[in-house]
Amino acid sequence: MKYDVAVIGAGPAGAMASKYAALNGAKTLLIEEHAGIGSPVQCTGLISKAAITECEVSEGSFVLAKMKGAFVYSPGGEELTIRGKDVKAYVIDRKLFDRKLVGHSLDAGVDLMLKTRFTSLHKDGISVISNGERKEIHADIVIGADGIMGGVGRAAGLPRCNKFMSGIQFEAPYDPCDAEFVEIFTGNNFAPGFFAWAVPFSGMARIGLAKNTGDKPALHYLEELIKHPVLASRYRGSRTEHMVGGIPLGPPERTVTDNVMLVGDAAGQVKPTSGGGVYMGAVCAKIAGEVAARAARKEASTGEYEKRWRSAVGRELALGMIIHKSMGKLSDENLNEFISFLNRPGMSERITEYGDMDHPSVLLMELLKGSDKMRLVRLLGVAFRTLF
Ligand SMILES: Cc1cc2nc3c(=O)[nH]c(=O)nc-3n(C[C@H](O)[C@H](O)[C@H](O)COP(=O)(O)OP(=O)(O)OC[C@H]3O[C@@H](n4cnc5c(N)ncnc54)[C@H](O)[C@@H]3O)c2cc1C
Repeated sequence: MKYDVAVIGAGPAGAMASKYAALNGAKTLLIEEHAGIGSPVQCTGLISKAAITECEVSEGSFVLAKMKGAFVYSPGGEELTIRGKDVKAYVIDRKLFDRKLVGHSLDAGVDLMLKTRFTSLHKDGISVISNGERKEIHADIVIGADGIMGGVGRAAGLPRCNKFMSGIQFEAPYDPCDAEFVEIFTGNNFAPGFFAWAVPFSGMARIGLAKNTGDKPALHYLEELIKHPVLASRYRGSRTEHMVGGIPLGPPERTVTDNVMLVGDAAGQVKPTSGGGVYMGAVCAKIAGEVAARAARKEASTGEYEKRWRSAVGRELALGMIIHKSMGKLSDENLNEFISFLNRPGMSERITEYGDMDHPSVLLMELLKGSDKMRLVRLLGVAFRTLF
């Protein structure tokens, strides 16, 4: 088997990278270790309108609900309402969504091998186990879109991401206060250093959390979360699906070698403020696919990808990491004060105007123009002050 480009992993990043490699003239192979695309799901499936656009799909059966805003709860119980002018985000069925993206890459001419696991890199390509049988595949360029496990990056000797958060979630019947609003819960006894959520759709909700600090297992915090008075009043008691997953944060210093490129979670292209990776992964995967096709023809080097993806999202990632570190240090008292700060008259209009779930730094910079700049800097602490 002889290919110009081999892409490992058929998640959103792999689907987009393989599609762009094929569209740019490369004979492209996409491999996936599972027997089907999109499972097991390790995602809340909350993505922005921009993510849908970036993935080049139109709204389809994968959209389960549309969100116009969020209710954010402080540890002390204060509610902050963030109301968008129109639909801000979609709750999606990740299995259907991933299948749609892979469908588009097949339409572009990509070959797909399921039940095929990447095992190692060699001089001329990769070794895989396909349906229990070892195979050698020639590929000039290898794209590692293999998610948090990052086997391709390890085999290529590339450094790992800066840190990993653990996430946990279940689906359950739920009576939301407003079916078009996501609920965000803050408090160190159930989401240390990060936040918890209830994302409603069709009479159900995905209820979960990611933890940044805290020395107990994620399951402990989940059991604490369901005692939250707001959540407890809406959660109807049973659980229909459970999942745990890791979230990589902070890309490694290098994401390429001469013939290997990493993309998506494998490259830490995940928003440190929310743990969302679909949008950034898609932005970077398109660059990866295009550069890989040209690199296979010796018209570009893999280093072009490294430069271009960092220039596209590097600043947002770096600022996001600063916000993430600052938020991770806040005590419950600090969080109460921060949410009160955002809940003052006039503030919600600015949040509605400048809030963008893919680019939180835009809102941050806007808030820092206000007369309360120093109060915000003081609230968010030491890591944040290094910005200035
Ligand atoms: C609890 C939780 C909630 C989240 N919620 C959201 C959210 O609401 N919105 C959002 O945008 N993001 C969310 N994310 C993050 C999001 O799921 C990831 O950023 C996204 O799936 C990354 O896409 P990817 O294509 O890089 O990797 P993945 O989707 O992980 O795909 C990698 C693929 O590679 C395959 N693979 C791995 N190793 C091999 C191998 N050796 N050989 C062959 N195939 C292999 C895997 O089977 C998998 O199909 C969440 C994550 C967690 C853990």
